[in-house]
Amino acid sequence: MNFYQEMLTIKISTKMEYQSSMKAVFFDRDGVVNKDFGYVYQQKDFEFVAGIFELLQYCKQKGFLLIIVTNQSGIGRGYYSIEDFKSITSYMQQELKKTLKFGFDSIYFCPHHPESDCQCRKPKISMIEQAKKDYHLDLSQCFIIGDKISDVQAGQNAGIKHKILVGKQAGSTIQGLDHLHIVTQISEVREVMERILTT
Ligand SMILES: [Zn+2]
Repeated sequence: MNFYQEMLTIKISTKMEYQSSMKAVFFDRDGVVNKDFGYVYQQKDFEFVAGIFELLQYCKQKGFLLIIVTNQSGIGRGYYSIEDFKSITSYMQQELKKTLKFGFDSIYFCPHHPESDCQCRKPKISMIEQAKKDYHLDLSQCFIIGDKISDVQAGQNAGIKHKILVGKQAGSTIQGLDHLHIVTQISEVREVMERILTT
């Protein structure tokens, strides 16, 4: 299954039967799934982050849905089109399926310019709220993994319990976030999740 949510403009959904309470891991894309070279929309620039396949495998084994929530302001800025984004997303899904036999369950993206004051661009919560509705998620069982404070802030604002901040902003002073875990690389995320899931 592979579908997109372009917030506020297009909605494409799939029919699925859901259990009463589902859990998901929300992934930021650039800097978490693929290396962030800035406005990545071409295959030649799409390089998976070390350790992401293993992490996705672990999350899947633990029964989490795998959901991307990504700000793609490059679309609103005119650097690339929605079609470009969909095409790179298909490529990502294919590459994941080749190795893992599964891809992300859903991809929500904000195509808007930061100055357009939309409700979806993280740290705002429309993408997470939509996923919550679409999958009947229990956010107290969910995780969000991002490399920017705006990612974990979006998680906090939406009510996602566990927030994991990865990478270069990890040393920043962050206030007002509970259940925040800070790691330097993706390969450390599993350990954090294991600790939480076994307590
Ligand atoms: Zn938006």
